[in-house]
Amino acid sequence: MSLRLFNTMSHQKEEFIPREEGKVAMYTCGPTVYNYFHVGNGRMLVVFDMIRRYLLYKGYDVTFVQNFTDIDDKIINRGNEEGMDPLKLAEKYIEEYFKDAKALNLMTASIHPKATDHIPEMIEIIKGLEESGLAYAVEGDVYFAVDKLPTYGKLSGRTLEDMQAGARVEVEERKHNPMDFALWKSAKPGEPYWESPWGKGRPGWHIECTAMSLKYLGAGFDIHGGGGDLVFPHHENEIAQSEGYLHGETFARYWMHNAFLTVNQQKMSKSLGNFFTVREILEHFPGEVIRFYLLGTHYRSPLDFDDENLRMAQKGLERLQTSIRLADEALGRQVEKPVDNAEDQKLIVAAEEAQREFESAMDDDFNSALAYASLFELGKVINAHVQAYPYNSVGLQKARTALWELADVLGIDLAHPANNAEAGNEKLDQVMDLLLEVRAIARKKKDWEMSDLIRDRLKDLGIVLEDTPQGARWTIK
Ligand code: AMP
Ligand code: ZN
Repeated sequence: MSLRLFNTMSHQKEEFIPREEGKVAMYTCGPTVYNYFHVGNGRMLVVFDMIRRYLLYKGYDVTFVQNFTDIDDKIINRGNEEGMDPLKLAEKYIEEYFKDAKALNLMTASIHPKATDHIPEMIEIIKGLEESGLAYAVEGDVYFAVDKLPTYGKLSGRTLEDMQAGARVEVEERKHNPMDFALWKSAKPGEPYWESPWGKGRPGWHIECTAMSLKYLGAGFDIHGGGGDLVFPHHENEIAQSEGYLHGETFARYWMHNAFLTVNQQKMSKSLGNFFTVREILEHFPGEVIRFYLLGTHYRSPLDFDDENLRMAQKGLERLQTSIRLADEALGRQVEKPVDNAEDQKLIVAAEEAQREFESAMDDDFNSALAYASLFELGKVINAHVQAYPYNSVGLQKARTALWELADVLGIDLAHPANNAEAGNEKLDQVMDLLLEVRAIARKKKDWEMSDLIRDRLKDLGIVLEDTPQGARWTIK
């Protein structure tokens, strides 16, 4: 079946036809590095990693470029607050990025370009825009003239009038039109700067992605991605600069945007301060659980961040891991009584069915949430089979391999123990659920003695309870 994906540009699902047969060129707007990345950024990173992996599974040769924004106002402000050179601060958080990326099982990009390594390319493009009359310089700043480009607004579907009415744009005398945006900013005292034809300064935000995507992928590359907040103004402005520079040639062919991860229905964001870094969550949940949680909702549906749902995701992942473990135990056992051939055949059919269902979900705009259903179904068939036939067989091998490989397409490693030492021990899980339920009843009755007794005795056994607004959580120390 052919792959269809939702293109923000056309507002509909379209068949994916790459620029060059068998190859996909993809660019995503990566993090601005002035802190550890938060789970909202994590959602974007995991979503595009999943998309990349599925394209690889479909046999495409994928070039995946993901930038680091390592110079901007927020980085400079944070550097000033911490008394640290902003460029050093950015370096530090790039290093930290790779640690969390590993925990989330994100593949390293083919290229991870940094904005500050591409200043000459940006200057070249700005010069080109100036020459074609699409940009103008004012005292060391350079702006893009939006009303010189009739197609401006085509991605977000807004006209210049709408934008001006909707946005509280400060009237800046230096701009010809309030919606004009900066391509180059003159340096303020104490800020990092680069030499340019317009004097000492630094690039505006949008121009970096134009320079880096065109450099590594060329005009008309296949997929440009990012979070939904980037549609306007970032991607709109990227298109304007790029297509202005390319004299109307298409910049990118498919625009994909993930929905937000929210907290109490509000976008999780560094500037709002309502965020949890992946680093913090890793203290409580393994990376594969966070990943499994993030892919459990279709990438274009909003996802409200919630501890309880993370815990449910953990349980779900453990169920799949248990199926693999049970299959492996059975596969290691030689036949005592032969596996019924018809029963074995059922496993082969189930494995094929799971693969078909998985592919049809993923071919429909990367519906990883629906793809999970095929994994759980196959896991159930495996569990039922090994209860009756806990022995090596061709069918079991096929089913085990299918489950393992399909999860792997989503970057989910079913070998990882999801919950420290207790992973795979379902009985312990069930006993702990029971104990926590008893303790919750005691607490409801204000029987603190009983509640503390349970907690203290568990502690003696090396099991630590932590009370959270969503209920008690336990870990083995
Ligand atoms: P930033 O570090 O703010 O430049 O964001 C890096 C990437 O994460 C961008 O592609 C954003 O669109 C995306 N992003 C930021 N916040 C969220 C969120 N709450 N949910 C989903 N994606 C987000
Ligand atoms: Zn970008």
